[in-house]
Amino acid sequence: MTVTLGEGRTPLLHAPRLSERFGVDIWLKWEGANPTGSFKDRGMSVAVTKAVEEGATGVICASTGNTAASAAAYAARAGIEAIIVVAGGAAASSKLVQVRAVGGRIVEVPGTFSDAYAEAARLAVDGVVLVNSTNEHRIEGQKTAAFEVLEQLGEMPDVLALPYGGGGNTKAYARGFLEKTGELPRFHPTEAERRADTVASAIRIVEPNHLAEVQAVLERSGGSVVTVNDDELVAAWRMLGTEEGLFCEPASAAGIAAVARGVAQPGERVVCVVTGHGLKDPDAIQRLAL
Ligand SMILES: *Cc1c(COP(=O)(O)O)cnc(C)c1O
Repeated sequence: MTVTLGEGRTPLLHAPRLSERFGVDIWLKWEGANPTGSFKDRGMSVAVTKAVEEGATGVICASTGNTAASAAAYAARAGIEAIIVVAGGAAASSKLVQVRAVGGRIVEVPGTFSDAYAEAARLAVDGVVLVNSTNEHRIEGQKTAAFEVLEQLGEMPDVLALPYGGGGNTKAYARGFLEKTGELPRFHPTEAERRADTVASAIRIVEPNHLAEVQAVLERSGGSVVTVNDDELVAAWRMLGTEEGLFCEPASAAGIAAVARGVAQPGERVVCVVTGHGLKDPDAIQRLAL
């Protein structure tokens, strides 16, 4: 039985004003439209379905917030337990509200995301399955976004720009494009300069889990990692809201920040993955909104 909440099939929206501003053809893959408000739902549907198939009694993950919100919701849907390990202060509190609302259990540990991940991996025993993006089923589910982009655009974009946290989503898009076409667009995963304490809480990850695979994707696609500061992220976030009507969380504007840095040539077609909804992080918004 598939554990689903209706994830995927999200809109690909043209961005006419941002396209004009930057002289490139910009499309926004709006992943905030997923059931718990981020792309994590695509992979969590598959991971929790497989966990249940294998007889799991629960799932566990380390999270900066969105994986937690998604794991807890899909676990509740499947009727199994969810344990969420968070590093002190690194997760947006509103995302933990989402966890509590669907009955997930939160365990807080001192340190960074990497410490939380080590603890989650240690606790993933006795029928409790780890559902971080190191779980291959997550990547399999997330690759469907690349299938949708190809369908919705009718062709391969020149550039894919997206936020870079652990790198799981970069890996998933690459897998999806390669499976369908044998080719890749130029990838520009975009990270926050202040990785440990950026305003973009969804990419507060100092040691990306998928570093090696991300590097392979960059080499093969001719792309590069873009590093932007918080002012650039906030400027991009504000542009998405005020010029295109899209309210995302700060991390999700990273692709636009990369375009503002000039990663695309005039006239190129760029898909920016807008990874999560703005209501995910109202504390940040309180500070950022004019
Ligand atoms: C998880 C997440 C990211 C980072 O994705 P990775 O696969 O870790 O690189 C970016 N934005 C949002 C909203 C997320 O939830």
